[in-house]
Amino acid sequence: MSNMMNLSVLGSTGSIGKSTLDVVARHPDRYRIFALTANLQDELLFEQCRQFVPRYAVLLDEAAAGRLRRRVAESGLTTEVLCGVAALEQVAAAPEVDAVMAAIVGAAGLRPTLAAARAGKKILLANKETLVMAGAVFMDAVRESGAVLLPIDSEHNAIFQAMPHNYSGDLAASGISKILLTASGGPFRNTPLSELRNVTPAQACAHPNWSMGRKISVDSATMMNKGLEVIEAHWLFNAPADVIQVVVHPQSVIHSLVQYVDGSVLAQLGNPDMRTPIAYALAWPERIEAGVAPLDLFKVAQLDFTAPDFERFPCLALAYQALRAGGTAPALLNAANEVAVAAFLDSRIPFLAIPRLLDQVLAALPVSRVTVLDDVLAADAAARRQADALLTQVAVA
Ligand code: NAD
Ligand code: MG
Repeated sequence: MSNMMNLSVLGSTGSIGKSTLDVVARHPDRYRIFALTANLQDELLFEQCRQFVPRYAVLLDEAAAGRLRRRVAESGLTTEVLCGVAALEQVAAAPEVDAVMAAIVGAAGLRPTLAAARAGKKILLANKETLVMAGAVFMDAVRESGAVLLPIDSEHNAIFQAMPHNYSGDLAASGISKILLTASGGPFRNTPLSELRNVTPAQACAHPNWSMGRKISVDSATMMNKGLEVIEAHWLFNAPADVIQVVVHPQSVIHSLVQYVDGSVLAQLGNPDMRTPIAYALAWPERIEAGVAPLDLFKVAQLDFTAPDFERFPCLALAYQALRAGGTAPALLNAANEVAVAAFLDSRIPFLAIPRLLDQVLAALPVSRVTVLDDVLAADAAARRQADALLTQVAVA
């Protein structure tokens, strides 16, 4: 029993959470679920509790937690139902936990993911917003506690796989000259610019290659997702902005590449299915079956590459700017983006107002240094206030 891994899945009802449980269910001899968590989807969380019988189930929403508690009691399950942010932190840091899948979307993932880092857990990191907002604080916590950080984002997982096993954070010492971050270009890669103003949330969420949550789907449509990933790569691999090159690759078969000084370029390929990076991180340094169909190169037949269009996708340029500015700039950008995306999904602002809003929030707020978590939280709150205040203005501009 001692070689069973005890796993907490934060955001188990989401796209990454469900894919994680799909892989876990294939290996009942290796993984046991300690905790499952969600925002307010008590019905799906109940079904997941029935299947995996975790020690804890956590909902952020109190009413939803009450409903889940009743159903769990009625069905005689041993799972204990908790509620709130402190409970999310508790199940991320509990001594019985070996590994934490951090798959909450957005800034809401920061506190529980940081709790896992401070407790020295093996962290399977899908919640890229944690690194974008608080990269310095989070990476310090990882180093101090000896936590093991394994990227789930397919690009960063690919880079991790293409890097030397003993990579220590020194690109030059490892002979690495460039990180090539691939991007599909999203659903609007070739849409005439004049049509982008009328794009609906449903169109923005219809990604050509990947099935994902709504927030990251909109981020993919604006290419803010790639911008956030540039910042994520900076923190994960200690890479300056100039070393990280975005490559548009519409087939999403090469998940990213690492270029070495001797001319070698190592890539990781596979079908676009998040169960591959999830299984890789779960079993690392071993390999396990993930339920993913083998890649058929004859069916793929062709791989294309182009440079990103920064005019079509101003969010990508804003992300590079924020990374270069440093300090609280990425946290400001991330918070403004969360407000903008939520407003777009609610049909309160048009698609093209997203970059306008980010631009205006960044122009209005000063960038300051980050030494502690409170610096990040203050920047996040200020950017949300500023973005809220500008919403009606950008909606009509
Ligand atoms: P999703 O919207 O499908 O799921 C989000 C999960 O977080 C749900 O379980 C939800 O209940 C929970 N949640 C939402 N708000 C919460 C809150 N305030 N407090 C606590 N829990 C909350 O999102 P997703 O697509 O699974 O993405 C999750 C994370 O993984 C994101 O950071 C995303 O950028 C990253 N990611 C996703 C993919 C993908 O293929 N979906 C790929 C790479 C990275
Ligand atoms: Mg990605």
